[in-house]
Amino acid sequence: MNSRADQLKVFFLPFLVSGHMIPMVDLARLFAMHGVNVTIINTPANALLFQKAIDRDANSGHQIKTHILEFPSAQVGLPEGIENFNMITSHGMSHKLYYALSLLQKPIEQLFQEMTPDCIITDMFYPWTVDSAAKLGIPRLVFHTAGYFSQCAASSIKQHAPHLCVNSNADTFLLPDLPDTIEMTTLQLPRWVRTQDGYAQLMDRIRESERQSYGAVVNSFHELESAYEEHYTRITGIKAWSVGPVSLCVNRDAADKVERGNKVAPDENEWLNWLNSKECNSVLYVSFGSLNKFSTAQLIELAHGLDASSHQFIWVVRQKDKDQDEGWLEDFEKHIKESNRGLIIRDWAPQLLILEHPAIGGLVTHCGWNSILEGVTAGLPMITWPLYAEQFYNEKFVTRVIKIGVSVGVTEWRQWDEEAREVVKREEIKKTVIFLMGSGVQAAEMKNRARELRNAARRAIQSSGSSQSNLMSMIKELKSLKCGRS
Ligand code: UDP
Repeated sequence: MNSRADQLKVFFLPFLVSGHMIPMVDLARLFAMHGVNVTIINTPANALLFQKAIDRDANSGHQIKTHILEFPSAQVGLPEGIENFNMITSHGMSHKLYYALSLLQKPIEQLFQEMTPDCIITDMFYPWTVDSAAKLGIPRLVFHTAGYFSQCAASSIKQHAPHLCVNSNADTFLLPDLPDTIEMTTLQLPRWVRTQDGYAQLMDRIRESERQSYGAVVNSFHELESAYEEHYTRITGIKAWSVGPVSLCVNRDAADKVERGNKVAPDENEWLNWLNSKECNSVLYVSFGSLNKFSTAQLIELAHGLDASSHQFIWVVRQKDKDQDEGWLEDFEKHIKESNRGLIIRDWAPQLLILEHPAIGGLVTHCGWNSILEGVTAGLPMITWPLYAEQFYNEKFVTRVIKIGVSVGVTEWRQWDEEAREVVKREEIKKTVIFLMGSGVQAAEMKNRARELRNAARRAIQSSGSSQSNLMSMIKELKSLKCGRS
């Protein structure tokens, strides 16, 4: 046990969206499990989403707490309780949320001054924390909720601009200077890469702050993307510690797995009973993360594609999707229930628990990094259906680098809060599902590779594994920096 004097005090600052908060809270809990005194800075509605897990950890003796900052709802004109990007319903609200985040900077800096942490671990969306840490003379670590590959791919494009050398947005080009041969099209690149807008400037600032950081903590593991881990360190010039998959490290029991970042629907045992009645590897899990909204046309194509594949599936349909429902979804649900081939979960599924169920044989993913890692951890092959953010890079990683997935063939990137113009057709969906869930040689190879990666992930978090060793050496280094200051 640490004596109070040499106990490391670390503050964690998550960005206000599920895909960033969930792994950041997992990381904070991981630090607390290793004797670090942890404070997570959050706002009231967001803190509530994680409080049970934090309380369980604190009750079992870990030094972990949430520091709650008032959310400036009235000042920015957001309804009470709307405090993250998952909760907003319009573009206008998104601007207000960014404004609220800018207002939170001052109270957060004040908190740092008063509480004098030994280190700040922050989401990349707070580049100003570089200056806060410098003022306090403490290290600032950026936590990457996405893997190395996407950072390296983005950097390759930023540096070499290969998309400016092709004739059309649909022409393919090679990403220079990467360990693997990766091709993309301009249409697949995020908007901020193609246009110099305000967001592009923010991304530049984020990259700059990354290089000024003491180091990066990455939710990945060495065996998954070692070539890119090395490449990242070379191009950024900073240290990087791979400590993931963080969800596998900390969420050991069902209570932890079920309550990650949102409430699941009340009929929570329906899916479990249903899966328990199915054969091993026979069910496809279909989910598009925490932010997506599909057009009715896309939902209908997806329903038909899944149905026509004749494979069994669990499909998570979000409330936002359902807003557009004109009754056909209920009819579809009735139809699949009657044939006992499918199950729809409304809004939020206990994804970790479902993925590890032996009946699940694959997943359809929008290529959010957390979902990819969770799929890898469960040893599952994937159908990739990228939508926004860095997801088209992640798709390349899954299909070209670790080769455990097949693309459904989406061609165009879009904003997270926009509906796609492109509609993936039922025939494509059917064909891809039959390929992945079928017994062909290529699919079998993907399944084998996925199983090997699952085993590697499990080894990485064991006591002499790569992620565990990285975590221990990072904590040791942060402690010695603390000692050096006192
Ligand atoms: N998630 C979940 N249930 C859902 C949808 C999402 O538990 O119904 C979790 C999922 O397990 C993952 C996170 O939310 O940990 C989503 O992060 P990801 O990076 O996959 O995608 P994003 O939502 O950020 O696009």
